[in-house]
Amino acid sequence: MDGYDGILNNDMLIKSLKTAVRSGRVGHAYIFDGEKGSGKTSVARAFAKTLNCEAGGDAPCGVCASCRAFDDNNNPDVIYISEEKSIKVDTVREQINAAIMTRPFSYRYKVFVISDADTMNPQAQNAFLKTLEEPPSFAVFLLLCQNFNKLLPTILSRCILFKLRPLPQPMLKKYLTDRGFTAERADTLSHYARGIVGRTLELDTDEGFADLTAAAFDICTNIKKWDIVELFSNCGVFAKDRRGDIDTLLRLMYYIFRDALIYKTTGNTQHLIHSTRLDRLDSVCAAFSTRQLMKACDALEQARGRMAVNGSIQYVVEELFYRIKER
Ligand SMILES: [Zn+2]
Repeated sequence: MDGYDGILNNDMLIKSLKTAVRSGRVGHAYIFDGEKGSGKTSVARAFAKTLNCEAGGDAPCGVCASCRAFDDNNNPDVIYISEEKSIKVDTVREQINAAIMTRPFSYRYKVFVISDADTMNPQAQNAFLKTLEEPPSFAVFLLLCQNFNKLLPTILSRCILFKLRPLPQPMLKKYLTDRGFTAERADTLSHYARGIVGRTLELDTDEGFADLTAAAFDICTNIKKWDIVELFSNCGVFAKDRRGDIDTLLRLMYYIFRDALIYKTTGNTQHLIHSTRLDRLDSVCAAFSTRQLMKACDALEQARGRMAVNGSIQYVVEELFYRIKER
């Protein structure tokens, strides 16, 4: 059942959408921008459902014919556009520009929900622009983007832009515990998902994440034992094979060292993110002094900052590993 209820931490955005509906000032085009899993589709669906709800409120009633057809993905006046790789110019011409020529079948608006709208190339965007320049009164376009800056300024200037806000970690943790996750699991996942609900659910079932966690523990446990040749060869492997996961891996290492620091200095397990991996944390605590753990956390924070501005993974990783290893 689509509605605004399950959408967290985006109250201002939802309030604006509700106000637009209540005041009868619905725009022709909206952009919902945010990372994958941030709730763009949920917001767009709730809004689309509201626009054609027969009850005429600022949120979908959920029981009228339009809402029920919507829930079955069977509402003739809500059109979903999505493609595997990118939205092509032919798709724009056939599924948008041609479809807009006919009035809605049953309801007030004809709503187009365009997934990955920022994957339209300039040709496709220009085709879309033709419709967007003079849209019929019944047309509403909802553009879902991960990077709205890829859209032409001429499109942006005709759209109302909303950015989805990620959830603060405690809110995400509560969201997960409310859904039956154990407190420990919710803690771990919420720290790695960077506030994105969809990502926590992905991580939970992702074998790759379990694999990355194991790899991070291996590095943290063994790095002190490596000689300089092993250090550089491991950096090479790390920078090459883990290129796509580098940020997650560095976050994992950071939280492992942070946990080890708390555990070693207080003996307290209550605030550990990896509280179910005490055996592995013991090994990390044995290999590092308190001061070295603090230095490792600092080095990881700095490395992540530098990774964000500097493309050379190999260089940043080499310096990072060297700093963690040195006494
Ligand atoms: Zn309804």
